[in-house]
Amino acid sequence: MTGIARLKIFLGALASTLALMTFGVSAGTGETPSRIDLAIQVLLRVPSGKAEIEKALATWKIDRPEDLGQVIKSGGVSRTDAVLTRHYDPETGKESRDREVTIYINTAQSLTNVVLDLAHEMVHATSRPSFDPYDPNLTRAQYIHSAIDGVGGEVQAVAMECRVASELSKNYQIPLKRCQSYLESKSGSGQDVVVKTDLIRRDFYRVGQWNNELLQVLGSEASLLSDLSPESPHLYSSTGNAPYPVALLKEYEALTRIACENSRKRIVTQSSTLASSMTSGNGRAPASQSGSPSSSTDAQADSTSMFLQRRCH
Ligand SMILES: [Zn+2]
Repeated sequence: MTGIARLKIFLGALASTLALMTFGVSAGTGETPSRIDLAIQVLLRVPSGKAEIEKALATWKIDRPEDLGQVIKSGGVSRTDAVLTRHYDPETGKESRDREVTIYINTAQSLTNVVLDLAHEMVHATSRPSFDPYDPNLTRAQYIHSAIDGVGGEVQAVAMECRVASELSKNYQIPLKRCQSYLESKSGSGQDVVVKTDLIRRDFYRVGQWNNELLQVLGSEASLLSDLSPESPHLYSSTGNAPYPVALLKEYEALTRIACENSRKRIVTQSSTLASSMTSGNGRAPASQSGSPSSSTDAQADSTSMFLQRRCH
C-alpha cells in the first residue's frame, strides 16, 4: 500500500514581448516542425542557447534535441511546472519522492518570443529545486528569495534570456526591448556584451504600491528581501498579474495549503497503520532500534508533526 500526495509547484513564468522576426530556419522536407522545434533550432545557433539545450538533454537523459518535445509542451502562458509526488509506504514508514518537470511555452506569439521564453524556462526546468515545500522551517521570505535569487531562479532566467537575445542580435535583426536596459557593451571591446544581473534583480524587487502591505505581512522576515522597493514595478509575473514578490507570496500560501492538507492526511494514515499493527500484535511500537520499521515510521510522524506545527495554522 502506498500513499501518494502530489503537490504542483509553479516555477514562475514570464511573457516576453519581443516582436516578430525571421530566423530563416529550414523546415526540412519532412513534416512541418512545430514552433517549439523551430525555437530549439534557433537556440542551437548561439553559444548560450546551445549550452542550455545540452544541459536540458543531460538533465532529462534525452539523446537528440528534436526529442525535447517530451518535456516541452505548447500552452497558453509560458511557465515551468514541477509536480512533486511523495510516495509513503506505511509498512516501512519510508518516503520516496518523484519530481516531474514540464515546460509550457506560449506558441501563439512571434518566433523570437518563443525562443526567448524557451531560453528562460529551461533555466528554471534544468536546475535542482532550491527549496523543499515540506521543510518545516521554510518561510515566506525564503520562498520569495529563492524563487528570485536562487539557482535557476528568475534573475538567472532573465539573464539567460538576455544573453540569448544579445547573441542572436549579432546576426539577426531582433528588437531587444526589455533586455536593452540589462545589456552593456564591455568598455573598449565594442563587441562583447555583459548582462547586468544587478539591474535585473533590482527590477524584480520593485513592487510599487504593494511595498507597505508586503513589509507588514512579512514583518521581521522582510530583512531577507533587502532589495524590496516601492519604485514602480517593471516586471510582472504572468501567472499572478502582479510584481513577482507579491505573486510569489500568493504562490507560497497556495503551496502551503496543499502541503498542509497532504500532511494531515499523512498523519491519519500513520496513526491508523500504527493502531492496526498494534492490535494485530506485530509489535511495531514502541520503537527502540534505529532503522527498524517502527522507528522510521516514528521519524516520519515526527517530521510531519513538526511541519504541521510550524507551517500550518
Ligand atoms: Zn521565470
